[in-house]
Amino acid sequence: MNIWQARKEIVEIGRRCYERGFVAATDGNMSCRVAGDLIAATPAGLCKGMLAVNDIVVLDAAGRRVEGNREASSEILLHLEIYKERPDVGGVVHAHPPTATGFAVARMPLAECVLPEVITTLGNVPLAPYATPSTTEVPESIRPKLRDHNAFLLANHGTVTLGATLLEAYFTLEKVEQFARVVLVARQLGRVSVLTADDVKKLTTIAPGKAPLNIPCEACDIPQEETLACEDDALVSDAVRRVLERLRDQKD
Ligand SMILES: [Zn+2]
Repeated sequence: MNIWQARKEIVEIGRRCYERGFVAATDGNMSCRVAGDLIAATPAGLCKGMLAVNDIVVLDAAGRRVEGNREASSEILLHLEIYKERPDVGGVVHAHPPTATGFAVARMPLAECVLPEVITTLGNVPLAPYATPSTTEVPESIRPKLRDHNAFLLANHGTVTLGATLLEAYFTLEKVEQFARVVLVARQLGRVSVLTADDVKKLTTIAPGKAPLNIPCEACDIPQEETLACEDDALVSDAVRRVLERLRDQKD
């Protein structure tokens, strides 16, 4: 992708993010890789829904500005770190989509295997610990899981999504927000049914090569035969019995 294409693409993705309410006012930032080891990124302080191609800033891999008159996004350190660690990534979107950000404020990762479509394309969305925005704390917070995830919730902040292209990173953002909405509705209805490890295994065979590295999820990944061996079963029943007894006593 050349610089001109990158500028146009960032303007377009910024407009989509703003129109869909994934960013408000001057929030959020987007970037993409450009031929020659350069990175095109949104400027700081402007509404991402109303950018012009000339507002886009072009930087080298170390973050030095090589084109454009504006300051790069305050979250540029996050973008640079992702490009450095993940040569396969060509685009990054940081946004504040309301439902997924709600999960990030509740500090609840989107880590349950509940939707086949999400499992085969996105996997789980981990929660990165709280980090002060625009500092090196933000890239630090996602580093432990950066290798095998393309989407993150940033505690009390928002989301980061990555893709081979900027459009792909944007679609991943759409998926994360949609996933968050579905999980929220299921929780409101009072029941979240998680797929079994077997169900998840079957999905990886019908969509081979498509499955991300980060499944099965924490909930369905428990190899029950192994962890709940005979004696453990007895231990669990014993614990359950005691809890029930205690509850019964309290009632009395
Ligand atoms: Zn932010």
